[in-house]
Amino acid sequence: MRCLIATDIHSNIEALEAVLEDASDLGCDTYLCLGDVVGYGASPRETLAVVRERFDVVVRGNHDAAAIDEAESFRFNEYARAAIDWTRDRLNPGELRYISSLSVTEHVDGVRLVHGSPDDPAGWHYIKDTMGASYQFEAFDEQICLIGHTHVPLVVSLAGGTVREETDTLVRLRPNMRYMINVGSVGQPRDDDPRAAYGVLDLEAGSLELRRVRYPAKRARRKILEAGLPEFLGERLLDGV
Ligand code: ZN
Repeated sequence: MRCLIATDIHSNIEALEAVLEDASDLGCDTYLCLGDVVGYGASPRETLAVVRERFDVVVRGNHDAAAIDEAESFRFNEYARAAIDWTRDRLNPGELRYISSLSVTEHVDGVRLVHGSPDDPAGWHYIKDTMGASYQFEAFDEQICLIGHTHVPLVVSLAGGTVREETDTLVRLRPNMRYMINVGSVGQPRDDDPRAAYGVLDLEAGSLELRRVRYPAKRARRKILEAGLPEFLGERLLDGV
């Protein structure tokens, strides 16, 4: 199985289309999404349509949850709340039903999928570093857990009780090691690199590649401004913060 991994697309159809185009000749047979399909960006309906058509497994993120239940946005900052309220008003019943159907945890061929953390997938905790990841390995049985939520790539391995960060963009996955993998955000990267982030996980070959692709961020920003969404949500796309 060769998987395309995408997370935190956040209604950024320009970034999603660039990722799918970039991946089109990489031979991925399974498309996995770690949640936050909507929120922040100006194209929730277009993004949902493409995700529903192209992705095989999708888990629910905190912004997806807040799109169907306002109470889930209680910890959101003012920008996130403004955008999710705007989003909720634009989705039709079928789209809201689709989001409702998503689970917070999925399992695919020896891989766990969650948006936040495997120990409490509906608690929306952030795994930001090796230390944070180290406590999570006992929360899942599979060799690999895919996560999202921070919008920053992070690959942490566990071997013989030693936890460490893998810093290469091409990681050879060892059968006797376990991994927590965040490929970074498609639609709102926050690691000072504005390019859309995604990953390719090849379970047979035992490899993970972290990829970046340029996309028309200025167009995504303009749509955010035209929609009347907070200016900051457009500006941050240009800087990747
Ligand atoms: Zn997110």
